[in-house]
This record gives sequence, C-alpha cells and structure tokens, in this order.
Amino acid sequence: MKLNFYGADRCVTGSCHGLEVNGKKILIDCGLQQGRDEISNPEFPFSPPEIDCVLVTHAHIDHSGRLPLLVKQGFRGRILTTRITADLLEIMLLDSAYIQVQDAEWKNRKAERSGMGRVEPLYTPEDAEAVMQYMTTCEYGQIIDLYDGVEVEFVDAGHLLGSSCIAMELTENGVRKRIVFSGDLGNINQPIIRDPVHFQGADYVVMESTYGDRNHTGVWSYRDNLAVIIDETMARGGNLIIPAFAVGRTQELLYFIREIKDAREVRSKPDFQVYIDSPLARRATEIFKGDLLDYLDNDAFQLVKGGTHMFSFDGLRTTESVQESRELNTDPTPKVILSASGMCEAGRIRHHLKHNLWRPECTVLFVGFQGEGTLGRTLLEGAESVKLFGEEIAVHAKIMNLQGMSSHADRDHLLEWITDFTSPKPQQVFVVHGDREVAPYFAQSLNAKGIPAHAPQYTEVYDLVTNTMLQPGYLPARKAKVSGSGRFSAPYERLVKMGQILNESIKRSKGRDNKSLARFADQLKQLLEKWEA
Ligand SMILES: [Zn+2]
Ligand SMILES: [Zn+2]
Repeated sequence: MKLNFYGADRCVTGSCHGLEVNGKKILIDCGLQQGRDEISNPEFPFSPPEIDCVLVTHAHIDHSGRLPLLVKQGFRGRILTTRITADLLEIMLLDSAYIQVQDAEWKNRKAERSGMGRVEPLYTPEDAEAVMQYMTTCEYGQIIDLYDGVEVEFVDAGHLLGSSCIAMELTENGVRKRIVFSGDLGNINQPIIRDPVHFQGADYVVMESTYGDRNHTGVWSYRDNLAVIIDETMARGGNLIIPAFAVGRTQELLYFIREIKDAREVRSKPDFQVYIDSPLARRATEIFKGDLLDYLDNDAFQLVKGGTHMFSFDGLRTTESVQESRELNTDPTPKVILSASGMCEAGRIRHHLKHNLWRPECTVLFVGFQGEGTLGRTLLEGAESVKLFGEEIAVHAKIMNLQGMSSHADRDHLLEWITDFTSPKPQQVFVVHGDREVAPYFAQSLNAKGIPAHAPQYTEVYDLVTNTMLQPGYLPARKAKVSGSGRFSAPYERLVKMGQILNESIKRSKGRDNKSLARFADQLKQLLEKWEA
C-alpha cells in the first residue's frame, strides 16, 4: 500500500498522485504543469499503460490537462469522476488541445525564422476526444467498489461545479486505511456552489495549500463594487471589459449581474447589455444550466426550483463567430464584455483590449489572480502602453481589480478543515498544491498544532502500512522568470522603487514605540488620501 507523488509537489500545477494497492495502480488527478512549474509534460514518472484507473477531483486543467497525453501514451483503464466534472472535461480538454495546437504553430513560425527544428503539439483535439471513451461517472456520496479492497467516494469540495474531495477505504492483507485527497478546497460563501464538506477522520490526508500562508480580505463587498463599476463605466459611455476564466468565474459574474439588473442598481443605463464573448464560456454556461440539483447551494437551488434561470436576463447576448466578436468593437453602444482568457494571454480578449485600452471612458476589470509575467499583471502594475498584435496601444482606460472572490479556501479555512479530522486523527498529512515556500510553511503550521505533516517532493514514495517514507523526492529546477511585456515610464519606475523603500522602512520600524508608529501611519494615510483623491 504505497503513495507516490507525481506532481503539484511544492508547486501549484500538475496535480498527480499515485496509489498502489492490491496490485492495482490508481492515479488521483493527471494535471498539466503550467508556467514556471513545468517539469516536462510529456514525461510521466510512471508507465501510462500500467495505470489501471484515474480518479479526477475536478475539471481544472492543472488537475486534468494531461489525460489526453496519458491516453496517447497507452493508458487504457478507467477514468472516474462526477457527472458534472465529466461534462466540463469534455469541453475543457478540447479547449486545452486547441491551445496546444496554437502554441505549437506559434513556436513553429518562430522556429522557421530562426532555422530551428519543428515542434509537435503536446496533444491534438483528436487526442482530447479520445479521453471520453474511458470515462465513467458517479454522483456525490455514492460508495464505489472500485477493486477488491478499494472503495471510493466523491465528496463536494465546493471549489468549482462538480469538484470533489476523494475519500478511499483501502484494505490490503488485512490492514485497513482511510485516505482523503482534498483536491482543491473551495472558499466559503461562493455563489452557486456549496461550501466544502468537512470529514470526521482519516488515517492519511493529501491536502492542497494554495493559500496556506494568507487569508482573503474584502469578500463581502464584491457584488456591490461590481454594480458601482458597471454604473460608472456606463455613465461615461465606455465599455466594461472583464477578462474572465470561461468556466466558473464567468458564471459567477453572470449570477451577480442578474441580481444587479433585477435590483436596477445600474442607474445610468438599467438596460445595459452583456456579451459573453467566448465559445468555451458559452458552452460551460449551458452545462451550468443542466440537471444540477445535487450540485447547487441552497440559494441557487431555491432560485432554480422557483423557475428562475441563474444565468439568463434581458440584454444578455452571446457571440459565436470571430466576425460577431469583431463587430462588438464597431458598435458604439456602451456594454459589458466578458471574454477569455482570464490573464489576457490568449484569445479574443486581446482584440477587446486593443480596441478599448486607449479609450479613457472604458474600464478593464480584473477579477482573478494574474500570474507573474502575464499581460494582465502588466496592466495591473500600471503599464502606460502595451504591445498588442504588433501595435503599441496606450493605456488610458481605467484598470481596476476586484479581488477577494477566490475559489480557494484561505489559510484559516484550510486549518479549520484539517483540524476537523478527529476520529481517527491523521497519522500523516501530505501538503501539496502550494508554492515552493508555502507548502512546507503550511506543513509546519500543522506540526505546531500537533498534526504530523510534511510537504513531499516530486517522486517521493510513502508506505501507508508502516507510515514511513520509502524514498525521498527531489525539487526540480525552475524555469527563469518571465519578464513583463509592458513599458513603464521612468518616473513610474522611480515611484515603484520609492514604494519598495517605504515598505522596508515600515518593516524596520517594527520595534518602535506605539506613539511614533501611530504618527507614521497617520502621515502615510494623509499622503495617500491626497494622491487618491
Ligand atoms: Zn482548481
Ligand atoms: Zn488546482
């Protein structure tokens, strides 16, 4: 009875864990490695034809994006997940394949010019479609007899529609162990979906730690702020451009916008129009409208029961063709445009940015995490101009950020979730899916609470019968930091530098007396009020 760490070890992407029990090899998740975490996607640390089954916690690509590659390399077993995750996987894996193909084309155009060799896409749409024939689905709470001595249950993780924690009862040579894989744990009070389920106990827990070092702030004003931003932008006669992830985040926004419209909170233009300009978002929204009664939180359940469509309202339009998408930019009526991708790295959003960034009456609103080196981050950091489609575009639009609606549990909630495991108490918690410094830090926080825990490294092997590490893993080298693509003015660079010096000065004054600390804070407050007015 062994546990292998095949991905998301001291990093946040490429989730993949392997269980060996009664001669069966079972994977939990098979995610794509993205950004700086990338080890080498095509090289699995195991032989794909030898895998008997994959259990998938949820549809996000960092948990599922290597399934097509697994099948391409000879996997012929079973893939088991919830019904809704399977529906979402069908569209998300296909979308991921299109991105892989585009990416390879782009690299090959560059390679041609520099005389380098051609690259093949990681996988194609055909490979993504081939995954679906291996899929079996289940519902939350159903106990599945997977193999002799292997029982599986999918439990709501409250992170994305259909997302799960996976609880397993394993029996081998008379020894019985219960293990829970957290998947990604959701934030509380998210619209549409439920809060994550808490467990009574387990011998082992493999848990995520994305926000293991911090708490969320400002969750409550999210919807109200959104209403104000729409109102102000419509009043200026501009467009509101929201780069949003197609699955989950887009539906959440639509849910709030319906409420805002119903309450007529946008006084300047109560009949404002909203466009979903992303074919993936449109298809995902269809799935969110399906048979979901076992998947919704109470508010959403009551709405649907009462005959309200969660994501339908007057003035909602969807665009399908690229032509329709382009026409949005020739029509002068102020409107809200939700478009992918969330970090502005690819897709239709870049066209909307090109046509709206230079217009001072428009707003670009970020609603999700913007990774280092992405165009989204560059804009948020105050770039004065950015390059889009070979053209330098001035940034005159208002750039705003609505943080706080994370789909991940924060530090306090992660701690609450894990300390609820009491009968039995975990013999070991394996902390995964956290940044290089965050995962070991969170494991230490658990140790401080008397919970045995560590942050495994890539390829670690652990014996679940004797509760001992059989083989330590290693930390793969990281890719160099990607630099931003924007240009900043020299005075702005100087201002950023001064900000850093200020921060250091604040840290240095930690030991000072309370009176001078309060005076320092008051003076800073005055300065900020002057500049933000
Ligand atoms: Zn996720
Ligand atoms: Zn994840």
